[in-house]
Parts: sequence; structure tokens; C-alpha cells
Amino acid sequence: MPGTSDNIFADRACSSINPIPVLKDNIIWIWTSGREAIVVDPALSKPVEELLIENEFQLIAILQTHHHSDHIGGTKALLKRWPEAEVIASSEDIERIPFQTISVNDEDVVSLMGREVKVIGVKGHTKNHLAFFLPANESCGEPPALFCGDTLFSAGCGRIFEGSPKDMYNSLKKLASLPEETRVYCAHEYTKDNLSWAISLYPNNIELIERYKEVSKLRSNGELSLPSKISIEKKTNLFLRAQNIQELKKLREHKDKWRS
Ligand code: ZN
Ligand code: FE
Repeated sequence: MPGTSDNIFADRACSSINPIPVLKDNIIWIWTSGREAIVVDPALSKPVEELLIENEFQLIAILQTHHHSDHIGGTKALLKRWPEAEVIASSEDIERIPFQTISVNDEDVVSLMGREVKVIGVKGHTKNHLAFFLPANESCGEPPALFCGDTLFSAGCGRIFEGSPKDMYNSLKKLASLPEETRVYCAHEYTKDNLSWAISLYPNNIELIERYKEVSKLRSNGELSLPSKISIEKKTNLFLRAQNIQELKKLREHKDKWRS
């Protein structure tokens, strides 16, 4: 039969994920495939518009992890230019995250640009915080990707504003169970500061020191430390490594008061 050697996924477009650093330390992630783009947590609209227009991308969706203004601030203006774009956010947060067209919850799956995006409920930072998990795209050699907003940072986690330490502990455990090679796209570049804090607690930990050196080098060259990887976080993220809720609670309280 002719064509049997053809990869059945050959027509499935490969994608790429790129950062737009904005404000002090926010990262807006732009996931593109073909001429389509999806933006995650647009703090601002202008830099997103500029990048998409310059590269002739059509914005098809906005993913919102939670309601804070440094994550939804650009959404309204982006919808003016791309009124057809879907806004995907927590069904529990319709009041605080406006313009929703696809309201989702923990364990929902949304199909976007030919890929299945899994919604993971990760409350703790806020009471309805969501993460979005994109399984590997084997045909393109793309590893799994996680957009985790302000829940998991590299070497850190979000402040517990609305949830409890138990919520955050359970949320981090869910993320820790994702494949090791998952790329972790956090919404803030806090890695170096987080590692300084971790080293202040464990000054002789070789893995922390090595990661600190690596991240310092990237940062001094003007590069981001992100995306991270689940495997890296399992080694160097004290919050992700916490053995129980009490340990997580103590770490969070310590970090909240710590100044570099
Ligand atoms: Zn936040
Ligand atoms: Fe934030």
C-alpha cells in the first residue's frame, strides 16, 4: 500500500513556546503552531500584540491560570484586536476572570491547535488557580509542557494568599507526578532569588549550588532560567520536596519573611 511509511501525524504542525518578559519579572508565554498563537497569562497587551503582528500570527486563545492583574491585565485589549480568541479560565472564577468563552475545571481537557490540553486544579496561591499541561508531541520531538502560573516557580512556589498550606502541598504533589522531562513554564522569573533562599537553609547542598551557578550565568547573560524541568525541580525545589504539609507550611512562612 503506498504511503504506509508516512507518519500519520506528519500533518500535525509542530509548535514552539516563547517568552515575553514584561513588568519586573513576569513572563508571558506564547505558544505557536503554524500561524496560530495562544498566549498564557497576558499581563499586558502591547508587547503581545507587537510580537504577534510582526510575525503574522493569529491569536486563537488566551489561557488564564488565575485572576491576578499581572496575569489577566492584557486580555481585554487583546480581545479588541482578536475578538474571536477563546478565553479559557476557571469556571469557579467567572466573576474575577472576565471574558471567558471556555470555562474549565480540574481534569477537563481542551483541544487547541490539534493538541489536547489537560487542566489541573492547583489551588493554594488563589482558591481557583489552574495549571495547563500539554502532553509530549512525539512526532515533533516536543517534550510535555506545563504552564503553572504562580503555583510552581523554579526552586519556589507561589505565596499562599487564598488557600491553605494543605492546598498548596496537594497542588505541588500533582505537579511533581508529571513526567520528569516536562518543561515548566512559570509566570515569574524568580529562580535566582529562590535558590539564594534555599542555599541560606542548606549551604552545603551541591545540587542547589550547581543550579545557582547555572542560573546566575544565564541571568548575567540576559537569559531566562525558564523553562525549568520537573526533574530539576524534584532535585532543587524545597517546596516540591516537602515531605508533609507541616514542612511545606514552615518553608513558606520562612520564605515569606526572608530577604536576600
Ligand atoms: Zn498571582
Ligand atoms: Fe503573578
